[in-house]
Amino acid sequence: MYEQGDFIEETTAQLYDEEAKQFLADRFVIGTCPKCGNEEAYGDQCENCGSSLNATDLINPKSTITGSKPTTKETTHWFLPLDRYEDFLREWILKGHKDDWKPNVYGQCKSWIDGGLEPRAVTRDLDWGIPVPVKGGEGKVLYVWFDAPIGYISSTKEWAEREGKDWKTYWQDKDTKLIHFIGKDNIVFHCIIFPSILKAHGDYILPRKRTSQRILEFGRKQTFYLQKLGGMAS
Ligand SMILES: [Zn+2]
Repeated sequence: MYEQGDFIEETTAQLYDEEAKQFLADRFVIGTCPKCGNEEAYGDQCENCGSSLNATDLINPKSTITGSKPTTKETTHWFLPLDRYEDFLREWILKGHKDDWKPNVYGQCKSWIDGGLEPRAVTRDLDWGIPVPVKGGEGKVLYVWFDAPIGYISSTKEWAEREGKDWKTYWQDKDTKLIHFIGKDNIVFHCIIFPSILKAHGDYILPRKRTSQRILEFGRKQTFYLQKLGGMAS
């Protein structure tokens, strides 16, 4: 995808914790959601209204590491230009899956697509994660939700090699039916981002169905666990 020019490189201001001396991963920032007013929205998503956010969109952001108010600092990242896939997603989801996706999944996708999709960063300034393997990527890692669905493919490959099967049948054969079982907080990653990645690459099948269950809500307790786990919980 990098060689095909499927990413854009941009220098933007990101939230930075001066006390901890580090850029803040999405889940290490909480603040007020600009869409619904929930005061405990995360840097990438509001769990209350389901809006997909950028950390810099949050009103009154607070670092969950030190509790301080973050400053902003410039850094360069690679973005997946989701706006390039708007026509494809409109055709594939809104026309193609009107009747066979669950209404909550379809409705959520429709509202995102109708609201206009924007480029989304696929790299982060963190000291843990998969290093970005291109020039200028030193000290940066792949964003967990860019990296995680690719893990579906690489784990199939690992399993297939162990079992003496062909992994390509599972991901590249047009007769294969790919179905995701997901929680409602994962809709954007499985229905918008991952299909855009697969479409951009070009050699992979697209998921047929999404069956999404609403997740149990634990209120403050859930917030606590997610804070403890940082960007890893989903
Ligand atoms: Zn919200």
